[in-house]
Amino acid sequence: MSDSMRSVQKVDVLIVGGGMVGLAMACALREQPDVRVMVVERREIQPQLSLGSDMRVSAIIEGTANILRGMGVWDQLQNVSESIQQMRVWDQQEVGGARFEALEVGLQELGRLVPNSEIQYAMLNVLADCEHIDVYCPAHIESINFKTDAVYLSLDQGQHVQASLVVGADGAQSWLREQAGISHYQRDYAQKAIVANVRPQQHHRNTAYQRFLAGGPLAFLPLPKGLCSIVWSLAHEEAEQYMQLDDALFLDELNLAFGPVLGRIEEVGERGAFPLVGRLSQHFVQHRLALIGDAAHVIHPLAGLGVNLGIRDAIVLAQEVAMAIRYQEDPGSMDVLALYRKNRVPDVLSVMASMEAFHHVFTSKYAVVGKLRRAGMLMFSNSGALKKSLMRTAMGLNLAVPANVMTTAKKQI
Ligand SMILES: Cc1cc2nc3c(=O)[nH]c(=O)nc-3n(C[C@H](O)[C@H](O)[C@H](O)COP(=O)(O)OP(=O)(O)OC[C@H]3O[C@@H](n4cnc5c(N)ncnc54)[C@H](O)[C@@H]3O)c2cc1C
Repeated sequence: MSDSMRSVQKVDVLIVGGGMVGLAMACALREQPDVRVMVVERREIQPQLSLGSDMRVSAIIEGTANILRGMGVWDQLQNVSESIQQMRVWDQQEVGGARFEALEVGLQELGRLVPNSEIQYAMLNVLADCEHIDVYCPAHIESINFKTDAVYLSLDQGQHVQASLVVGADGAQSWLREQAGISHYQRDYAQKAIVANVRPQQHHRNTAYQRFLAGGPLAFLPLPKGLCSIVWSLAHEEAEQYMQLDDALFLDELNLAFGPVLGRIEEVGERGAFPLVGRLSQHFVQHRLALIGDAAHVIHPLAGLGVNLGIRDAIVLAQEVAMAIRYQEDPGSMDVLALYRKNRVPDVLSVMASMEAFHHVFTSKYAVVGKLRRAGMLMFSNSGALKKSLMRTAMGLNLAVPANVMTTAKKQI
């Protein structure tokens, strides 16, 4: 059959990448039957078969939980996630640490720790009944052609697609960003994060621990069954050396670094090491293209906010697309996409700047910065209203959630 005879599927939005952020955008459009959506994900998505077996987990803050609740995703995650009710932050000097409790802001939890694959799987479940949303997974895009009237794509399974808007949700190394010729700024932290699940002697008591060491932060985050997920940021060479150690020697180093807060750390599962690089795309949008999530911005994982930020991109873009289609506007036009950019850039830049400031303040080797940091943490811990207000901001509770997502959230409460 010649190309001209093959049928072309027309969609309003084609999302490249079915990670947590790409699928969140599709879920935010699940109640908009007039918006035809296609998601193309290159990898198969499988839930983890046993709790604690997935080392890629994310802290989902309460503000994002509200969004996922509205999408019908959150309830599915209760049995495969763990509640974070407190957070303790301290540095290697062991003095002047800060403590945050959900009850201080009138909530039961600050957030939950959830395996990434479970979030994706729950989102796929939500999309299963949506006739206006097609998910191709695993599938590849073989060619893409940006034209003024639309974007033309071919998939490896032979489909030809015409989209008014393509959305890059394909992660930090975004293929789509590269195809569109959009460059990015990069900040190499010269660090790697070692990620693993561990079993401490004592129960974590639903507390997230973050210890700032000279080489970088070491986080212990609560998982079901008393396990913890660790994220340990270290200089490249040091991380490589620790990755080579056998489990017993690695545990010795880990115990030394974390201290006796949870008794001895007794077991460690499979370890992974991820290079820490900050990235900011030079443009979030151009005619017929929008970038969301890590494709648009990558931040240091020290505050566990990356995917939370990405899900906020996803719902704002979904909202603008839905509005455009309701009023018969072109969702791929710069008029519409500029609204998304205008809404998201300030939030993204302010989170990136805060992460950068934290990184400097907590890795500085100057004694005076160390003293100021400890004094600052102490003052902050006792600052009452200021602390509550900053906690609400950090938990994403002060951000407006677009109306279409909130409508469903209210219906479910
Ligand atoms: C060590 C570490 C710990 C972290 N902890 C947290 C945390 O606690 N909380 C938090 O909020 N964030 C955390 N983050 C950040 C978080 O993991 C990312 O922000 C998040 O995964 C970004 O989601 P995404 O969907 O944008 O991209 P990704 O998760 O990278 O997903 C992109 C998807 O696109 C697919 N894809 C790629 N290319 C193509 C293509 N050409 N065609 C089709 N599909 C494609 C990929 O297979 C993938 O499924 C952490 C990051 C690291 C490194």
